[in-house]
Amino acid sequence: MQHTVDPIAARASAVRIVLVATTHPGNIGAAARAMKAMGLSSLHLVRPAHFPSAEATARAAGADDLLAAASVHDDLAAALAGCNLVIGTTARERHLDWPSTDPREAAALVATTTGEVALVFGRERSGLSNEELDQCQRAVYIPTSPGYRSLNLAQAVQVLAYEVRLALLDGAATTAQPRRGRLDPPASAAEIAALEAHCLRVMAAVGYYDAARPKLLARRVKRLLARPGLLHSEYQILRGFLAAVEAGLGADGGVPSSDD
Ligand code: SAH
Repeated sequence: MQHTVDPIAARASAVRIVLVATTHPGNIGAAARAMKAMGLSSLHLVRPAHFPSAEATARAAGADDLLAAASVHDDLAAALAGCNLVIGTTARERHLDWPSTDPREAAALVATTTGEVALVFGRERSGLSNEELDQCQRAVYIPTSPGYRSLNLAQAVQVLAYEVRLALLDGAATTAQPRRGRLDPPASAAEIAALEAHCLRVMAAVGYYDAARPKLLARRVKRLLARPGLLHSEYQILRGFLAAVEAGLGADGGVPSSDD
């Protein structure tokens, strides 16, 4: 047993692994093991079929401290509360309509984002639903052989956790200078949600958005604003601009502004 301090421990503790509606408890244990070997510790379970479970503990093989500390949630939104970056994983080609990335790029985003971040994994049989992927800023697909796309859940966790570890180790080697992210943090998920609501409100007020036929535009605006990279200062510019448009219209356009 080694007791050396892991150079990436502080940052790694802010990386949540979120497992949605896992059916087989053995996969939860194997995912905990995969995480622990890569220095990750924050395990979040959304409506697991069986948990706690002796099978999960057996498969964790010494990573049962992660199971004991795991948070169990009723819905995905609760598991993602407070995250500045949410990345969903998918074995499904049609999900690649979402803004997509590969594991390496996703891990680099995780390593360069400040605050809490989440990697979300779906059900063994059906993966993540569209509504669940809507809550993610990017979809990650682990490139597999084209004829066999689906990895075992815990093995998918292993691949992503390994890439995150490499990216964090890489970052730890180059953190001599203060990073820009510390001076100007990324916009939080709550800020992005408020910006999205404000944007739609102003679009409706100027007649660009028809709230009676909301679907497509609302979702596209959401995806546009949720792309990683928006800084807090940029969020403030956009909110200020939208408020000025509302003021220029002479009022708030008559649309309620209860989101903020
Ligand atoms: N047949 C399912 C497969 C789910 S596999 C489907 O239609 O999606 C269970 C989970 O493992 C997935 O939701 C995803 O989180 C992860 N996973 C499996 N293979 C993956 C791959 N190639 N890329 C990214 N994640 C994968």
